[in-house]
Amino acid sequence: MALRINEIFYSLQGESSFAGRPCVFVRLTGCNLRCVYCDTTYAYEDGEELAIEDILSRVASHGCPLVEVTGGEPLIQAETPLLITRLLDTGYRVLLETNGSRDVSLADERCVRILDVKCPGSGEVEKNDWKNLGRLTSQDEVKFVLTDRADYDFARAVLARQDFPLGLVENIHFSPVSGKLLPKILAEWILSDRLAVKLHLQLHKIIWGPEARGV
Ligand code: SF4
Repeated sequence: MALRINEIFYSLQGESSFAGRPCVFVRLTGCNLRCVYCDTTYAYEDGEELAIEDILSRVASHGCPLVEVTGGEPLIQAETPLLITRLLDTGYRVLLETNGSRDVSLADERCVRILDVKCPGSGEVEKNDWKNLGRLTSQDEVKFVLTDRADYDFARAVLARQDFPLGLVENIHFSPVSGKLLPKILAEWILSDRLAVKLHLQLHKIIWGPEARGV
């Protein structure tokens, strides 16, 4: 029962409706995608094998009730669902950040699944598992990372799909890629179209800078 772990650290959550809250991050090694704007390329390979008990004990050392399981892509490791369940059973509030290419129903429904829908500007749009839209619950969240107007139009079209859980999922985030799409421009588009989404900025990058790691 071991997982390959890239890093475990304590910081502020920055990528969801939990943004700003202290959180322990468990970053798993490996990703099955190669998004052009990826800012965690160091998570593709580096890491150490840790037993679930060791991960739980390192998480506990931070004394924080909120834990995020992230990557890379956490769901490519077979033991990740078990890790999530063990964290939940221990009493943590658990977030799962996933790139949307794997079946999110593998993860315990008690965790908050933050589902990334890949847009064309990522270079990985064809990897979306669209069945995931039907697997979400009301506590889950959806995130679109946007590089330009084409991505924005794509995301709008996804919201209009019949199988998109509009009205069920409350937290839908539109996040501009730093250095590619100005937040001000995205804000104007959202306001103009009266979209029921949240403009989301990567809080940790604003605080610690775009190159900081383990924060
Ligand atoms: S899914 Fe995430 S970790 Fe994987 S390549 Fe894309 S941005 Fe990087």
